Amino acid sequence: MSKSVLVGNVRIGGGAPIAVQTMTKTDTRDAKKTIEQIWRVYGAGCEIVRCAIPDMEAAKALSEIVKGSPIPVVADIHFDYRLALVSLEAGCHKLRLNPGNIKDKEKIRLVAREAKSRSVPIRVGVNAGSIKHTNNVSNEVVQIALEEVKILEDEDFRDIVVSVKTSDIKTTIEANRLLRKACDYPIHMGLTESGPLIQGLVRSSAALLPMLEEGIGDTIRVSLTEDPEAEVEAAWSMLETVGVRSFGPTIISCPTCGRTRQNLRGKLSEIRMALKGVKGKKIAVMGCEVNGPGEAKDADMGIAFGATKCVVFRGGNMIGTFDTDEAVRILIEMAKEDN
Ligand code: SF4
Repeated sequence: MSKSVLVGNVRIGGGAPIAVQTMTKTDTRDAKKTIEQIWRVYGAGCEIVRCAIPDMEAAKALSEIVKGSPIPVVADIHFDYRLALVSLEAGCHKLRLNPGNIKDKEKIRLVAREAKSRSVPIRVGVNAGSIKHTNNVSNEVVQIALEEVKILEDEDFRDIVVSVKTSDIKTTIEANRLLRKACDYPIHMGLTESGPLIQGLVRSSAALLPMLEEGIGDTIRVSLTEDPEAEVEAAWSMLETVGVRSFGPTIISCPTCGRTRQNLRGKLSEIRMALKGVKGKKIAVMGCEVNGPGEAKDADMGIAFGATKCVVFRGGNMIGTFDTDEAVRILIEMAKEDN
């Protein structure tokens, strides 16, 4: 089992549930907009949020952001150690340092001492894109991470999280396997620069699901060229797929076809929103009453949409046929009652 660190009130590692993270995509200097986005990702299930700190103004804005955030805030630091010091002063709950671009050991030690005095953990976050590497990238990112870890340990700093990310699926998996063998600090997992929504989801799933199956990873961020809420939803979906956590019900829905008579996507989204937080249920949302109930018989409960009426079923048995709105209401009530 990995060691654990406390990020604000969220534990990472040591057998704690894998924490879901994302990054804000607003200009951090605009504290109001950033806080608004944090509340939105919090609503989507985000447990730790990271903000880019590109300059002093952003580092200073962090103080207001931390106060307005319902979840722990991580300061993402590149190049300038002074941004880390100001972020610590602003009350950030964790620092992310990139060993690829803060190279002066004395400066890293200084940040470590300051973080230690405030009980703030540091993530050593190596990205293959930030380092000069040869052909053995997986090994190199791990070595660079471990060298940085050693600098922190020399300051008797142990509140460490490590990540080794690349944009290549196999390399990322291999690097994380090596990292897991090489140290027992919690691992922040992710595939970097994974791409736009669909491509990014496929690539991130290909990289992260095998790692989750192997028990590698203590906190997860799915990087997408998309709104951060989508990253959070994707992370939860992966955790649910491997059965390690559950944020809402497992919804199975048909792809729709020429038999579909209602707007299934709209209804599906209405049902999903209403059932956020309902855990451990498999709910089927099907596009027709001809095949729907049969195709979804393994679900705990479900609904099959006809032209104006819907069949509601539970445990494979039909409960009745109702007008659409009534049927949706009955399904939602049933799922909530049973929770
Ligand atoms: S459940 Fe009905 S609408 Fe959905 S794919 Fe199957 S046949 Fe088509």
